[in-house]
Amino acid sequence: MKSVKRKCSRCGSRGLHAKMRPAVRTVAGHIFKASVTALVCDSCGAVYFNGRALGNFDLAVANKLARAGVSDGEAIKFMRKAVGLPAVMLAELLDTSPETVSRWERGVSHIDRAAFAILAGIVMCATQLVSGRWFKSKPEGHFFAHRS
Ligand SMILES: [Zn+2]
Repeated sequence: MKSVKRKCSRCGSRGLHAKMRPAVRTVAGHIFKASVTALVCDSCGAVYFNGRALGNFDLAVANKLARAGVSDGEAIKFMRKAVGLPAVMLAELLDTSPETVSRWERGVSHIDRAAFAILAGIVMCATQLVSGRWFKSKPEGHFFAHRS
C-alpha cells in the first residue's frame, strides 16, 4: 500500500491518515449506513472520502434496493447512477425512451415489473463484478476497506 502524500486542503497539514468513517445514504425513505475508508486530518479533523470507496458503498446500497424490490423513482435513479448508466443508455437497454425513464425517476409514472427486473439484474451483476469474492463473506462495511 502506498503512503499518503496528500495535504489537507483546509489547513495545509500533511498529517492525513486513512481511517474508517461512517457514510450514510438515504434513498426513497430507506437509510443505509456503512464504514467507508476516508483520509482524516490529524490537525483540523477534516474528512476526505475516497471516491471509489463511496462508489462501492453506493453500489452496495443499490444492490439492497434491487433485492428488496424498491421501485420508487428515487430508488430507480439511485440504482441507475450507482452502476454508472446514463438515462439514455438505460432507455436503450430497456427498449424504451429516455422520457419514460425520466418519468419513472421523477415518480410521474411507475416502472413496469419487467423493466425493474432488468435494472435490478444489472445492479446485482455490477455488485458481483466490483465486489468479487469478499462481498458475501465479509461483514458490512469492511469490504469497502480496499484502496488502490
Ligand atoms: Zn486539516
